[in-house]
Amino acid sequence: MTLMLDQPVGTTRFRAFGPRQIDDIVRRHGLSPELRDGIALLAHVLPFRVNEYVLEELIDWTDPAQDPLFRLVFPQRGMLPEDDERSLESLVRAGATKRELAAEVARIRAGLNPHPSGQREYNVPVHEGERLAGLQHKYRETVLYFPTQGQSCHSFCTYCFRWAQFVGDPSLRFAAPGPDPLVRYLHQHPEVSDVLVTGGDPMVMSTDRLTGHLEPLLGVDSVDTVRIGTKSLAYWPQRFVTDADADSLLRLFERIVAAGKQVAVMAHFTHPRELHTARVTEAVRRIRATGAVVYCQAPMVAHINDDADTWASMWKSELALGAVPYYMFVERDTGPYDYFKVPLARATEIFHTAYRTLPGLARTVRGPVMSTTPGKVVVDGVETFGDGRFFQLRLAQARNPALVGRPFRAHYDPTATWLSDLEIAADTPQDIREALRP
Ligand SMILES: *Cc1c(COP(=O)(O)O)cnc(C)c1O
Repeated sequence: MTLMLDQPVGTTRFRAFGPRQIDDIVRRHGLSPELRDGIALLAHVLPFRVNEYVLEELIDWTDPAQDPLFRLVFPQRGMLPEDDERSLESLVRAGATKRELAAEVARIRAGLNPHPSGQREYNVPVHEGERLAGLQHKYRETVLYFPTQGQSCHSFCTYCFRWAQFVGDPSLRFAAPGPDPLVRYLHQHPEVSDVLVTGGDPMVMSTDRLTGHLEPLLGVDSVDTVRIGTKSLAYWPQRFVTDADADSLLRLFERIVAAGKQVAVMAHFTHPRELHTARVTEAVRRIRATGAVVYCQAPMVAHINDDADTWASMWKSELALGAVPYYMFVERDTGPYDYFKVPLARATEIFHTAYRTLPGLARTVRGPVMSTTPGKVVVDGVETFGDGRFFQLRLAQARNPALVGRPFRAHYDPTATWLSDLEIAADTPQDIREALRP
């Protein structure tokens, strides 16, 4: 079935709105002065970027402060520690100089754990003594690739675990200007079957740029799958439908598929509403018509999607579009973490309550998953045994391939929100125990 698209709202060309456009948005959508001041205040610290599609088609403006999609993109009061919000506010009220304000903002950001799990520092491959910028090789079969021009997004998520790179943290802005080092590395590492292109969002690049990064992969026989991590299906589905180079993007996917490789679009969907517009339906249809497969993943975050009905509806909506539910993540300890965190016990219960309602074909989803230094740890459930109550855990992915799929247990704790809060059970095999040691 071909969907007739209604006339696009406003301009069809992508345009980002940032902190300087807050007052335009406030006027257009009639936000209260209180809400406006909260956004403007928090946007000093947290990255803020939104666009016409998110404003017009995703957010419900009836009661924005209570709307999950509004909270997904608008920084608001309550997201930062109370003391920090207060001190920032009194500085702004007192008419502090730019310099004073910048110092306070830097202090607050430093307190928000901007570098969780040392991801980028630990896994950067070295070739002939040189660190390969923009590559990360953590799991044997998959290399992450961060193209320089893909280090932004069509809109920013308030809970983003890579938030620091969007506020100009230079140590995080390491990226690859071109694919030559990647291709050389892949030739030397034939065990790598998957290249995961990520960011930011690689879909902010023009098709020409993206082609420059991806086309050289066609000549690497050992690469079976090109994965593209993206939030664009949720934030700017026009990228695949009406953008000037949407068609050429789909032709690029077709060329990769014709070369015998799989294209996996790893779509970030946080809330079912993101899956219910005519435009996203059409975007997924067009992507699938190229032979590419759409896989879906997102973290569970408080105030946005921390209930079972939301996840059940999201997974069913994904399946209905022909997309594959893949990972439910546990939110990382960074940025406005205290606002968004969900205890593992609660996340597990929500996951299972939703999972039970799914048709078998949507039970491809795994979670809740913590992406930790040793690997991806899934919480399979909570059970009471003769020796007490335990979280049942498993390494779904591990730096050490011998540990993949291995189960273990940790003592139940209803308040734990991350692996580091857990006490691993005494009967855990030594190799797993060692891998999990901080
Ligand atoms: C999740 C992840 C991958 C991919 O793991 P899969 O289980 O194959 O999806 C690869 N590299 C890193 C660093 C990751 O976090």
